[in-house]
Amino acid sequence: MKTPFVTKDQLEAIAAKYPTPFHIYDEKGVRENARRLKAAFAWNPGFREYFAVKATPTPAILKILHEEGCGCDCSSLAELALAERCGVTGEAGIMFSSNNTTEAEFQAAYRLGGVINLDDITLIDTLVNALGKVPEKICCRYNPGGVFTLGESRDGVQVMDTPGDAKYGMTRPQLAEAFRRLKDLGAKEFGIHAFLASNTLSNDYYPALARILFQLAAELQEETGCKVAFINLSGGVGVPYRPEEPENDIAVIGEGVRKAYEEILIPAGMDGVALYTELGRYMLAPYGHLVTRAIHEKHIYKEYIGVDACACNLMRPAMYGAYHHITVMGKEDAPCDHKYDVAGSLCENNDKFAVDRMLPKVDMGDLLVIHDAGAHGFSMGYNYNGKLRSAELLLREDGSVELIRRAETLEDYFATLVW
Ligand SMILES: *Cc1c(COP(=O)(O)O)cnc(C)c1O
Repeated sequence: MKTPFVTKDQLEAIAAKYPTPFHIYDEKGVRENARRLKAAFAWNPGFREYFAVKATPTPAILKILHEEGCGCDCSSLAELALAERCGVTGEAGIMFSSNNTTEAEFQAAYRLGGVINLDDITLIDTLVNALGKVPEKICCRYNPGGVFTLGESRDGVQVMDTPGDAKYGMTRPQLAEAFRRLKDLGAKEFGIHAFLASNTLSNDYYPALARILFQLAAELQEETGCKVAFINLSGGVGVPYRPEEPENDIAVIGEGVRKAYEEILIPAGMDGVALYTELGRYMLAPYGHLVTRAIHEKHIYKEYIGVDACACNLMRPAMYGAYHHITVMGKEDAPCDHKYDVAGSLCENNDKFAVDRMLPKVDMGDLLVIHDAGAHGFSMGYNYNGKLRSAELLLREDGSVELIRRAETLEDYFATLVW
């Protein structure tokens, strides 16, 4: 059972002021979740979450997370500029985890005092060309290749991903070579980063990743004489998009990582190593809804409900066939005895938020909440078919609602055109 964080009456009042579709975020949920994460890793004095800005690049959200002690994980000039304008800078503020990086991007990240995470060994030259040197604190991204799996499955949920097919990171020999070269160029403190599986529903993912990286850190420090100062576990802790899926328990995850730390790093004499995370989805997905209204019904070979949002507002179903749960507001207790495709208006047949979904009978004008749209939702939006980006709203802890990004207008859409 997934319950919206707003009621039908609340939403009708909000929609009277801000027309659908819109994304709405729950400040209370975001803050409480950020505090749970912080508590789970409080045993590590250097712990820091750098929120993956690409998930929800909205100043009001970045500021809330900053107040909760999070920095920003950026990977482009615009994301760096966003962090800067939110007052998030310096080593504690910015992790720059980019790939295929330009000199201008390295210069901007360095100017803001961020920690630079190198995706590839050839980027050492790019960095030296950009800065005339390398920073004293530097991170390298690791890719072990092959297939990454976790032995056990939980409630039938498997963790499996294929780093060997991923464009990111360096091989093991490249990592040692990169450390040595960076040390020769003046680097003094090193970090290791890896992202091996996405949207994991397992309390074992971070602990398993931590074991791999802690072992690697101990070996590399021994081999190269480079001091490993931090380990960046990156993103990948998932959320249950389907109501029947198990939720991750961040306290259990934190304890699992602590166990690995005590078993590997402490005996290696590396008890000062700080842990960083770059979570995006876990920090925001459940705390954002896409709210849309049913505007048409169509009865042909299947039953369709046409809504006023489309894949431009939330691309995941169209792009990955991702499941997003839907609540028909005011009909939470009605039987799900109608089978619908819930579609947007793009001239593109994959523009469907749900296919063959059992829902209560949908009437025209009903408000639909599309769940778990708080991360990789609005931010993946695009302008296909001349669709304008919708607004983002924030439900404050006191129950008030703030506009945190206005909807695009036709003037915005035309602003770059040459007539
Ligand atoms: C996308 C990304 C993240 C966040 O991933 P989530 O699945 O949202 O946790 C973190 N780090 C890097 C480098 C990324 O590209």
